[in-house]
Amino acid sequence: MLQSAVSNQEIAQELVFLEHQISLLQLEASMLVAELDSSGFLEDAGYNSPTDWLRFNCHLTDKVAGDRIQVGEHLAEMPMSVDYMRDGQIGYSHISVMARTAEAVGKSFDERKLLGLALDLTPGKFYYKSLHYRHSVDPKAYAEEQSEQAINHHLSLSMGEDGHLLINGVLDPVGGAAVRSALEPLAQKSGAHDDRMLPQRYADALVELASAGKPATLQVTASIETLKGLAGAAAGEMEFSLPISSTAIQRMACDCSVTRVLLSQESLVIDVGRSKRVIGGAIRKALAMRDGHCRWPGCERPASRCDGHHLTHWIEGGPTDLNNLVLLCRRHHRMVHEGGWQVIKYEDGQISTIAPTVTFGLPRGPD
Ligand SMILES: [Zn+2]
Ligand SMILES: [Zn+2]
Repeated sequence: MLQSAVSNQEIAQELVFLEHQISLLQLEASMLVAELDSSGFLEDAGYNSPTDWLRFNCHLTDKVAGDRIQVGEHLAEMPMSVDYMRDGQIGYSHISVMARTAEAVGKSFDERKLLGLALDLTPGKFYYKSLHYRHSVDPKAYAEEQSEQAINHHLSLSMGEDGHLLINGVLDPVGGAAVRSALEPLAQKSGAHDDRMLPQRYADALVELASAGKPATLQVTASIETLKGLAGAAAGEMEFSLPISSTAIQRMACDCSVTRVLLSQESLVIDVGRSKRVIGGAIRKALAMRDGHCRWPGCERPASRCDGHHLTHWIEGGPTDLNNLVLLCRRHHRMVHEGGWQVIKYEDGQISTIAPTVTFGLPRGPD
């Protein structure tokens, strides 16, 4: 094949060349935008703003249209940077960071202060450094910009028809960093076996963050029948949620971090407001000491982020003592109760798990 005669090295060179050409074209486009803008054409064309004209006629996103305008407008303030770009030493993305910095700091802009950084850094890192520069030039304006972002932050929570909670929002940089630093450690993979993608791990981390270490924050109402998972039992109820399955109730009750209101069949309240954990102080400590971390094979979540799981549920008469308990992290605890996995503990304390799809032996034939 003809293709195989072309080495990867040549393809890579071609790619770098192409991207450089794209940078040059973007620069040229920015110059044309500046020309149209200064002539008043974009303003008079009947659109709300020059950005809108570009969005509609050139099929650009808001951000890219903004880049074109800013670069076009500030090109004269960064002649050296443009030369370096034409030479292929930096790209259009560097130039757009320069332009936005020029826009932000106004008269104090000095491209020489930034050019060295642009030459050394990728555009993403360069943008980050450019913020430091902006702060050094005008800390007051920078602080005003940040507090404006803080005012504009918002979070909306809405429940989807299927009971899922939809979260949508924007946080200011400082608040966002606080949330990230709380979520990141919880969103780490729990071991080599952990095949969740990052968005799923963030979701689990958020739930874990919200529920960790708080013994009695959720009020669940369920009947004994629901708790036992008997056929015909109604679902349980929890504030802010659609009715929840008996398996989820069983998990929560397993190492109770919920306030329970158990109803007997005649709807008589038989156990109200028990906010103590089923697995209390001394046993919990001994359990944490013995297991150290989640006992799921390969999982290393520390004890502080685990539930105590009753191998035989207390509702089925299983005792709350060390022999009947193992530490499981929230995710693995959920896999057992809601996911149908089985945890087997051997005489020597070894733990193994059985996936819900595994069946033993052949189906039994007719007798
Ligand atoms: Zn459990
Ligand atoms: Zn685990």
